[in-house]
Amino acid sequence: MKKICLLIETGALATSLLLTTIFYFLIGNTWVIIGGIIFSICFTFWLFLLIWLFGKRLSLFTFHLCHRLDNMINGYEKEEQLLDEDTLLSRISYRLSRLYDIKKENQNKVANEREKLQILLSDISHQVKTPISNLKMITDTLLTKSVSDTEREEFLQGIKGQVNKLDFLIQVMVKTSRLETGAIKLEKNDNSLYQTLAIALSSIVYPAEEKSIYVTVNCPENLRVLHDSKWTAEAFFNLLDNAVKYTPTNGKINVSAEEWEMYIKVDIKDTGKGIPEKHQASIFQRFYREEEVHNEPGIGIGLYLAREIITKQGGFIKVTSEVDKGSTFSVFLPKK
Ligand code: ADP
Repeated sequence: MKKICLLIETGALATSLLLTTIFYFLIGNTWVIIGGIIFSICFTFWLFLLIWLFGKRLSLFTFHLCHRLDNMINGYEKEEQLLDEDTLLSRISYRLSRLYDIKKENQNKVANEREKLQILLSDISHQVKTPISNLKMITDTLLTKSVSDTEREEFLQGIKGQVNKLDFLIQVMVKTSRLETGAIKLEKNDNSLYQTLAIALSSIVYPAEEKSIYVTVNCPENLRVLHDSKWTAEAFFNLLDNAVKYTPTNGKINVSAEEWEMYIKVDIKDTGKGIPEKHQASIFQRFYREEEVHNEPGIGIGLYLAREIITKQGGFIKVTSEVDKGSTFSVFLPKK
C-alpha cells in the first residue's frame, strides 16, 4: 500500500513538473516556473494528506474487519455495528454482521439437533435397560437352575413379553427419529375421515370390549379432508388407545367429527381418570408419563407421536380434562 502511495505521489509530482516545463517552453515566462513549483508543492501536499487520511481510514477498517473476523472465527459474541453511515465500509460491515448472524443461527441449529439426538439416545438407552436386564435375569436362571416345565413355560412367556417390549420400543424409536429428521414425508391426500377413523377404531374394539367400555362414533361418512390416512390413523389410534387405557371398566368413549370453517375437528372424549391441569402441558413430551399410571402398559410416546403427526400436517391437538370426570383430546386438521 505504501509503495502504491509513493508511486502516486511521485507520478503526480513528476506530471506537474513536466506540465510546468512544457508551459514554460510554450509561454517563456519565469512566473510559469514559480507558479508551477508552488502548484506542485501544494498539489503534492494535499495529495499526500488525502492519501494519508485514506490510508488511516483503510487501516482502521482493516483493523476492525480483522478484529471482527477473529471474533467470528473464535465464536465470540457479536459486537455492535461500528459504522452507521451509508458508506462502502459500513455496507461491508453490515454484510459481515449478517454473515455472522447466519453462521450463529446455523451453529445453534446444529447444537439443537445434536442436543435432540443426545436426548433421544439417552432416552433409548434408558428405555431398553429394563427389558434387557429382565431378559438377562430370565436367561441366566434358565441356564443355571433346574426348573420345572411349568416354570420354564412362565420364563419363556416372560422372555416373549420382554422381546415384544423391545421390538415395540425399537419400532417407536425408529419411527420417532424418522419423523423428527424429516426422513418420513407425510402425504396429504383428499381422504375419507370416516375410513381413517375406522382403521384406528378397529384396533381398540377388542381392548374396549374387554373393559366393557362403550364406544360411540359420530362422523359423517362423506366427510373428506386432506390428510395422510395411514399416519393420521396412527395418531387417532394413540389417542383412542389412551382413552381405553385410562378409562375404568364400564366407562364411555365418544368420537365425533365436526366441520369448522378452517378445520375439521375430531373430539375423542372419555370418562376416564382425567389429567390434572398441572400435567396437561407435559403429557405431550416424549417419554413423559404421570406417576399414577405406572401400572398401566406404555412408555409415554403415544401423545408425542400423535402431536408430531398432526402438526406435520398443519394441524394441532388440544386437551381439556377434569380429574375423575374424563378427558377430551381435540384434533384439528386444516381443510386446505
Ligand atoms: P403412555 O400412555 O404410554 O403413558 P402417552 O404419551 O400416550 O404415553 O401419554 C402420556 C401420559 O398422558 C400418560 O402417561 C397419561 O398419564 C396421560 N394421558 C394420556 N391420555 C390420557 C387420557 N385419555 N386420560 C388420562 N390420562 C391420559
